[in-house]
Formats: sequence, structure tokens, C-alpha cells
Amino acid sequence: MKTIKNTNFKGKKVLVRCDFNVPVKEGRITDDTRIRESLPTIEKLLSDGAAVILMSHLGRPSGTGFEAEFSLAPVAARLGELLGKPVRFTNDVFTEVTVSLSRDLQAGEVLLLENLRFIKGETKGDEAFASYLASLGNVYVNDAFGTAHRAHASTAIIAKFFPDDKYFGFLMAHEISNLEKLLHSAEHPYTAVIGGSKVSSKIDVLKNLSDKVDALLVGGGMAFTFVKAMGGKVGNSLVEEDKLDLAKEILADFGKKGVKLLLPKDSLCANRFDNEAERKVFPTMEIPDGWMGMDIGPEAVAEFEAVLNTSRSVLWNGPLGVFEMPNFSEGTLQIGRCLGKVTENGGYTAVGGGDSVAAVNRLGLAKGLSYVSTGGGAMLEYLEGKTLPGVAAIED
Ligand code: ADP
Ligand code: MG
Repeated sequence: MKTIKNTNFKGKKVLVRCDFNVPVKEGRITDDTRIRESLPTIEKLLSDGAAVILMSHLGRPSGTGFEAEFSLAPVAARLGELLGKPVRFTNDVFTEVTVSLSRDLQAGEVLLLENLRFIKGETKGDEAFASYLASLGNVYVNDAFGTAHRAHASTAIIAKFFPDDKYFGFLMAHEISNLEKLLHSAEHPYTAVIGGSKVSSKIDVLKNLSDKVDALLVGGGMAFTFVKAMGGKVGNSLVEEDKLDLAKEILADFGKKGVKLLLPKDSLCANRFDNEAERKVFPTMEIPDGWMGMDIGPEAVAEFEAVLNTSRSVLWNGPLGVFEMPNFSEGTLQIGRCLGKVTENGGYTAVGGGDSVAAVNRLGLAKGLSYVSTGGGAMLEYLEGKTLPGVAAIED
């Protein structure tokens, strides 16, 4: 893998694509995790004696110029605090001012460009825009895993202008090596825990994992499509009626390959979709009308834990229940704690997915796991076995 680790960038002007897509409310950053995660790469380049030009997007502006709510100005300020040095900021992307600020940037200095998505060419993967960005520096580093599944100007197209001077940053390298391990060299027994709302968003992940894991534990809303496909009664639980045949196919495929597939034996159910609803545990195959499965039940937790306790590698994607409601977060919490114990005992545990990572952070479980992915969509596509444009562009 071509990472920045073993190269010295003294005297270079390095363009770094970061993922500074942080939540901002009324001009204030509410979670700076993504900025802090970019520090190792930026600090390495600065300590080598490079001038560093940072590029990112934030949110989904319309692509027709400046929109205050999507400005990266708060990121420049916060990054300056974290680096302990001023971060220069361009109030635009595609003008002479940007060009001259980049040209005059000295070794050890940092410049952040304004939100690239203010220019339509960014998300269109426009070659002329990529070529303009490339002209600002002489080395390209991609450290934005969260957008690696997009073939945008700054994430993929730009790389062709640096055939011999393109690298992965530390964050990207970390993500790729963990995902490669999950796909190709995980120690066995290897268990996948897959939950979340819909089976339709996880089909390709399930298909790709069926050759790799020894056991699959299914929870969350998607379990009920499988349960119904097997002839169970799911009451008012979330079901994708048009995915019943597919669920049968997946069950058959796992069966044929001899992979153990467990559905939750029991479910904590509610009489309406509300934290304050009445609660009752039913066998998952026999949920009465008027009740919906909101979390895995205590027997399911115990059965899942027994499998996890003997696993050497675990991949977790998808909350096991409606974790946003405290009364239905217990299953997710228990399984997360169990993974903490697996890690303590020397096992390897990985979690990814936008909501899964939010759940793990909210429930205070992140520290106990081996690897928490920063990329939701990008991680899922990688696990589906797809080639990510942002990764391929550096590896080519
Ligand atoms: P990720 O973003 O980690 O890939 P998903 O987007 O697939 O995860 O699913 C997360 C959502 O699934 C959460 O909002 C959670 O409330 C929902 N969910 C989990 N269990 C259930 C359930 N039993 N019924 C309805 N929704 C559920
Ligand atoms: Mg999600």
C-alpha cells in the first residue's frame, strides 16, 4: 500500500483530501472527531517540512457557489486550535486568490480551501476542476475514507495528475488494512453480527460474507423479513414484503455453505413505535398482531453471546434494536459489551456503519473495540467486495 509513512515530504506542496464533513449547528462544530482523526497525517507532513493544502467538502450544498451554512470556516478555526498554529483559509475555491495563497504558502504552513462542493465540478468528477486543484500542489494525499466510494474530482479524478506522487494518508491506510483483514485474513472462528433496519441495504454484504464467516447473527429490524420468510408470525414488526424470496435465498445459501445463521430466539416488543410504549417479550416466531419487535430479547442475547465468546474475529454492522430509544437499546448495549470482552481476551472486533458507530459512541462502547470505521457507505461498499474509486485511484 502506498502510504505517506516511509516518504519524506520536505519542500513539497502537498494537497490533502480530508473528510472534514463535521456536524455544524449555527456556525459551531458539535463533534470534531473527524478533524482530530486527520491530525496524524497533517502533523507528519508538517514535521517533514511540507506546505500543506487541505481540501474537503461539508454537507450537500447545491453546487452553485457560497452558502454560509456549509462553509468550512469553523473547521479552519478548530483545526488551528488543535494544531496549535494558524490555519489559513480561502473564502473561495476556484479563483485567483486561491491560486496566489497556494503559491505563496511556505513550508510548515497550512491552508484550507473552502468547501469544494460549492463548485459543481466536484461531485460531477469534472476533469477540468480536478486539473485546476492538482495545479495547486505537487503531491496528492487522500485521507478521506468517508468519501472514498465517490468518484469526485478531489477524491479520485485528481489522482491521475500525480502518477508518481499520490499516497494514502494514515486514516485511509488504517481503514483499508482493517477492511482487508475482515475480507481476507480474519482469524477463525469468525462471526458477523448484522442488524439495522432493512435487509435490502445489506444484501450484497451478506452475500459477500457468506464465503468468509463461520457464523452470522442477525438482529434489528431486518431479522423479521427472514422470520416471515421462514413462516414465522411477526405481528406489526418491520418487514420488507418484496424481499421475502431473497431472504429465503440467503438462508439457503448460508445453509448450503454450512455457515451457522442465527435469528433472535425472542424479541422485546412494543405495542407502538415509541419509547414509552407497553413492552413485552415474545418468541420471535410468534409475535402477535398489534406488537412489533423493537430489540432482541434476553434469550437471543444469551445465545448470541455464547457464539461471540468463542469467536476470534467479529464484524458488527447494524444496531440490534431501535437503540435511539433507551427502552430498546439493551440488546445493542449487551452485544457491544460482549464484544468488549472478546477484545479484552485478545480477539479482533470491528464495527462500522453510520448508525452502528453512532450507537457505539452513544453507549460508550467504542473504546473496547479493535476498530471503529469512520466511513458508513464506504465501509459497506468495501465489504460488498466493490472497488472504491478513491482507493483504486491511488493504487493504479
Ligand atoms: P448502519 O447505518 O449502521 O448501517 P442501518 O442504517 O442499517 O445501520 O440501521 C440503523 C437503524 O435501524 C436504526 O435507526 C435503528 O433504530 C433501526 N432498527 C434497529 N432495529 C430495529 C427494529 N427492530 N425495528 C425498526 N428499526 C430498527
Ligand atoms: Mg444507517
